Amino acid sequence: MSEHRNIAVLGAGIAGAVVARRLADARWTVRVFDKGRGVGGRMATRQIDGMPFDHGAQFMRAHGPAFAAQLDDWARRGVVAPWSGAGRWVGVPGMTAPVRDLLTDLAVASDATVTRILRRGDDWHVELASGAVHGPFAAVAITFPAPQVAALLQASGFALPEVARATYAPCWSLMLALDEPQAEILIEPREDPIGLIALDSSKPGRPEGVRLTVHATPNWSRLHLEEPRESIAAALIRAAGDRIGTALRPTTAVAHRWRYAQVETALEVPSLYDRTLRIGAAGDWCFGARVEAAYDSGAALAETILADLGPQA
Ligand SMILES: Cc1cc2nc3c(=O)[nH]c(=O)nc-3n(C[C@H](O)[C@H](O)[C@H](O)COP(=O)(O)OP(=O)(O)OC[C@H]3O[C@@H](n4cnc5c(N)ncnc54)[C@H](O)[C@@H]3O)c2cc1C
Repeated sequence: MSEHRNIAVLGAGIAGAVVARRLADARWTVRVFDKGRGVGGRMATRQIDGMPFDHGAQFMRAHGPAFAAQLDDWARRGVVAPWSGAGRWVGVPGMTAPVRDLLTDLAVASDATVTRILRRGDDWHVELASGAVHGPFAAVAITFPAPQVAALLQASGFALPEVARATYAPCWSLMLALDEPQAEILIEPREDPIGLIALDSSKPGRPEGVRLTVHATPNWSRLHLEEPRESIAAALIRAAGDRIGTALRPTTAVAHRWRYAQVETALEVPSLYDRTLRIGAAGDWCFGARVEAAYDSGAALAETILADLGPQA
């Protein structure tokens, strides 16, 4: 079945990238759509005044053999490098690097917000905010954060009801450039308001300078979710200075709000797939708040789709 047909992967974070890579390796033609300007999702690197900041995931760790093997492969090819000990790895030159690597040579549409998936006969089409409609696709794999999966399915008149069980904590992330040197590479107080302070510029392959990323705790981020970026930045600069023990006088300070940052309740299932409709969903919300969890979930969804549709001839 499904000769010469394509599969749509919605979302170009690590989960979507793994789904796309595995399906492409089985000779399916894959089309990836993401609303972002680039790929990576929460494995994000942002340029401010020409300076890069990893303002989403700070590092990756492997707990299981599959992701450990993937990290080994990336390390051999210089896509990741160790940082700050204790089994932590980072993308080089930024946290998006592993996702870019998986998506090499695949068709990725950026700035492509998916508003609906449309069933026409036995096939799927993907409707974008621009009004463009792409298809036909034999199956659709949705890899957004769970609330956004649920919203897309609802707008489309379909459901994967279990998705609604997953919950997320938000995170205010602050990017700081400084003139003064900083000694601490990574501290994780996890005490309101500071969850983590990372010396971003100490990561391998980054340009010189002193750049910090400060993440607020889930609790503090939730309490201050709707406040203006400027007051968030001021509060976190003060609190980070208190933690480090010196008043911070940043030359650049930009706060970013992640509404769906870290999974609080995961489904504890590898992925979701409706065999009748051929809609699947994967992401960190299946296993937990980690890059590895999203990777494993994406790999599981690809395996399920291939078990259902088979490799393309
Ligand atoms: C501040 C922060 C710090 C973190 N720190 C760590 C850490 O140190 N270590 C760790 O292991 N994990 C960390 N995490 C968690 C980790 O980043 C995530 O678990 C993982 O990256 C999730 O990958 P994903 O593919 O499931 O989702 P995402 O990366 O969120 O990818 C989903 C993609 O879907 C796209 N999308 C959503 N809606 C639409 C739409 N309608 N149309 C088109 N595209 C859409 C998004 O643009 C996004 O690119 C952190 C996360 C945050 C936010």
